[in-house]
Order: sequence, then structure tokens, then C-alpha cells
Amino acid sequence: MSHCPDCQQDVSDPSAATCTRRHFRLGNRLVPRVRYGDERRSAVWYSFEDRCDDCGVESGGYHHRDCAIEQCPLCGDYVTVCRCWNQVL
Ligand SMILES: [Zn+2]
Ligand SMILES: [Zn+2]
Ligand SMILES: [Zn+2]
Repeated sequence: MSHCPDCQQDVSDPSAATCTRRHFRLGNRLVPRVRYGDERRSAVWYSFEDRCDDCGVESGGYHHRDCAIEQCPLCGDYVTVCRCWNQVL
């Protein structure tokens, strides 16, 4: 069992279909996060399924914290590997 620190939901629970956190904070600016299903920019990004393969949110939902599939809204890389959010994650 693991809980997302942003929404306090159990990420393995199917009812946790979306995170409640919709933005990343960069200084005093709020940047909208990329929802699951919106990040497909190419066929090789990842294989798309009904629910996120990593954090389990539904299509159109916001990923939970530290999801390996979430795409960075700034650079387009995976949020967990890009360096845009070191100060907020
Ligand atoms: Zn969450
Ligand atoms: Zn996810
Ligand atoms: Zn980034």
C-alpha cells in the first residue's frame, strides 16, 4: 500500500482514479500538469491502456506523485527524470 502525498489516496485503490493536484508550482507560477492520455505525442511514448500502468489513474486523470509515466508539461520528458521540478517534487 502506498499513499500519494498530494491527495492522500491509496494509489492501489481503483477508486483513486485521479490525483487532486492539478498544477506544479514553479516559483509563484502554477503550471498545469499533463493528464494521463494527453501526453501521447508519438506512438513510441508508451503503450496506452485504460489506466496508468504505474500509478493507476484513469484516462484523463492526473497522475499521483512520483508516477514514472507522467510527462513534464515544460520539457516533455518524464517528470521523474527531468530536472524542471527538483525544487517541488
Ligand atoms: Zn495523488
Ligand atoms: Zn501515472
Ligand atoms: Zn521537465
